[in-house]
Amino acid sequence: MKLVFSAKKWLFPLLQDSATALVYPTLCRVCEASIDSLDDGITCRHCWLENENARLNFDHCEKCDASLPRLHLKPQARSCGKCESFAFTDARACGIYKGSLREAVLALKRQPNIPEHLQKLILATFWQLPETDKIELIVPVPLHPSRLRERGYNQAELIAQVLARQVQLPIAKTALQRQQETERHRAGMNIEQRMKSLAGAFTIAAPRLIAERSILLVDDVMTTGSTAHEIATILLDSGARKVQVLTVARAMTVFG
Ligand SMILES: [Zn+2]
Ligand SMILES: [Zn+2]
Repeated sequence: MKLVFSAKKWLFPLLQDSATALVYPTLCRVCEASIDSLDDGITCRHCWLENENARLNFDHCEKCDASLPRLHLKPQARSCGKCESFAFTDARACGIYKGSLREAVLALKRQPNIPEHLQKLILATFWQLPETDKIELIVPVPLHPSRLRERGYNQAELIAQVLARQVQLPIAKTALQRQQETERHRAGMNIEQRMKSLAGAFTIAAPRLIAERSILLVDDVMTTGSTAHEIATILLDSGARKVQVLTVARAMTVFG
């Protein structure tokens, strides 16, 4: 009986994955090795590990999680020197925007599916934030309505849903709205230009949902931190108690 139970628990998923691999042979988007488990999405386990190891080669800013050269500083002394004025309290990302994480972020713009492995990373990243027990509400970074119609879903909202389900927190899907379509034009802009392009881009549609709450803002990628700063500013202006940030990936703009 015990053997049957174990076989069902361990063997069946393996067979299922092998069967899927036979029917839908999939090669890793990064290294082209075959992918052994559906849980890994579109890159192989080795490339996921590579991405996690890449993060370990750096220290990280205590506030915004930017990668910093290894200086063997105490955690509280680790600062990128560029985020002090940002309105959010702290930010954490699953890892660096390269390899597996980059492919997963790009895939999430094409298909509304978050592989199991990334779901686990999102949860682990949540627990790296300080004072998670005080977070009361998850707010995904919204897309402009025309972009939402085009894509059919908001990838930041999918990330928020995956997290909300695991940590049992509510999501405010419409409390924050994007007025201007800024996403398309921002590649190559520096932090000042980004800040300028974001002025007035977001509004609060439901201030009562925001007031007095400790909020976790969720997005797919953080680049300079200017979007998170702009949104945190208006959330705090609307009475939010505190804003923290979680993203799937962090671009290496500060140091790298
Ligand atoms: Zn690979
Ligand atoms: Zn920083």
